Amino acid sequence: MTVLMDGKKLAQKYRLSLKKDAELIKQHGVVPTLAVLMIGEDPASQVYFKSKQKLAAEIGIATIDTVMPVDSSQQAVIRQIKQYNEAANIHGILVELPLPPQLDEKAVMEAIAPEKDVDGFHPYNIGRLFMDDAGPVPCTPAGIMALLAEYQLDPAGKRVVIIGRSTIVGRPLAAMLLNADATITITHSKTNELERITRNADILVVAAGQPEMITQKYIKPGAIVIDVGINRLGSGKIVGDVAQEDVKQRAGYLTPVPGGVGPMTSVMLMKQTLKLAKRSVEFERR
Ligand code: NDP
Repeated sequence: MTVLMDGKKLAQKYRLSLKKDAELIKQHGVVPTLAVLMIGEDPASQVYFKSKQKLAAEIGIATIDTVMPVDSSQQAVIRQIKQYNEAANIHGILVELPLPPQLDEKAVMEAIAPEKDVDGFHPYNIGRLFMDDAGPVPCTPAGIMALLAEYQLDPAGKRVVIIGRSTIVGRPLAAMLLNADATITITHSKTNELERITRNADILVVAAGQPEMITQKYIKPGAIVIDVGINRLGSGKIVGDVAQEDVKQRAGYLTPVPGGVGPMTSVMLMKQTLKLAKRSVEFERR
């Protein structure tokens, strides 16, 4: 029987404990605050934007939301980020992606002060993560680590295969799992004989953005399978990168889609905002 790793339930548990953390920080006279910057009004980004506002409000995190016009210049966006960097009351800064094409994503991310980089995408924080001295870390991989911990699945000594090498999922997750003493293989669209590699995995993480590409034949019996994919089919149905019903015949553990990794990402964002706010309390107390 495959154990389904319930991200929805774990996210709820986190929400309750984060509420308490926010309350404690407020008792020190600090209101944890997240600045969210959106450039343009892309409908998908707006949905994420609103759900983050709602979750933050529920936990007790204040949000400062700015929507800039879709044709904003690089200079104007960086000026706005610098204002956030300098504002003592702001603890975390988040820029909604994707950015309109006239903006250089790398330069925009690098403009965020590393100590307020709540998404952990700044090269300085990525570097720290790879040095096993993590500051803020990307939220989706952090959510995956939290799910493994909840189900007492220690990655130490395990063979992990990650499908996907993006800077938001595959690469930072590889660093986190390496820091947790796993042995890592990262695969991608140019990998030869993918199936031969994945069949050796004790933990298989799939973050390829390819609807239901992973079937039973890719899985070692009893493996832990983490399905990161969120794919909307023409019918409107959301499916993962794993053919869930098929893989259930063979996997030991599996994250469902929806309700697995997805709900964890936004709570990790809030957790990290509180961590950054807590640091400012500690700084003031010195
Ligand atoms: P990207 O498109 O940035 O990266 C996809 C990666 O998968 C690339 O490295 C690509 O290889 C690799 N890949 C694509 N096709 C194949 C294939 N057939 N075989 C092997 N590797 C392949 O995606 P993201 O990392 O941003 O997202 C991945 C998925 O996770 C998406 O479905 C996304 O919606 C979802 N997601 C879910 C989140 C959540 O909260 N649950 C958060 C973020 C993403 P190459 O580098 O060679 O092109």
